[in-house]
Amino acid sequence: MNYAIDFPATPVLPVAESNKVFPVGRIYCVGRNYAEHAREMGHDPDREPPFFFMKPADAVVQNGATIPFPRATQDLHHEIEMVVAIGKGGADIPEDKALDRIFGYGVGLDMTRRDIQGEAKKMGRPWEMGKAFDNSAPCTLLKPVSMAGHPAKGAIWLKVNGAVKQKGDLAEMIWNVPETIAYLSRLVTLRPGDLIMSGTPAGVGPVQRGDKLEGHVDGVGDLTITYAR
Ligand code: MN
Repeated sequence: MNYAIDFPATPVLPVAESNKVFPVGRIYCVGRNYAEHAREMGHDPDREPPFFFMKPADAVVQNGATIPFPRATQDLHHEIEMVVAIGKGGADIPEDKALDRIFGYGVGLDMTRRDIQGEAKKMGRPWEMGKAFDNSAPCTLLKPVSMAGHPAKGAIWLKVNGAVKQKGDLAEMIWNVPETIAYLSRLVTLRPGDLIMSGTPAGVGPVQRGDKLEGHVDGVGDLTITYAR
């Protein structure tokens, strides 16, 4: 392609036990997908259909990185999430066919500028500047389905500087992965390369300069991210 400008390469994630990489297309995130987290944010988890927001592909950060503290926030929050990587796209994907569209799974962070998001909520404005900023989507390498299977239960947790802050189980998701794919694909046509961040368990909280974040999902992987001082 003969681009008219210098244009960055497509962001990628490594694939476990492979020399191939996964090209990242769009990043869709599910809001309030664990009941305890919905309650801690002041909502009734029994009443809401799933809802979505997005991050740009170039918000991806590789596992092990040290990243700058983001600009324009005094209240950066961690949200540990299982990441679903779409290998085959489509629209109106039925629940019972949804798992066939998945390439693999990873462990990610939906980093959030909670102060900006809170202001946006109050004003009825979009969430993007609270959610879709530089380096806001750290993610591990992806484990293909052949290695990870389709994790539907198992621990998901996050430590900050060695102390457990978030702890839950994948089985606590309000909308499981097939339901999420079916629902999302009725709203947009999913494409190969899309990532879905599947929501965070309770215990979200602030991150400071110099903090070390360690996240884990049983059978999927471990993520370590450090914020520069
Ligand atoms: Mn989230």
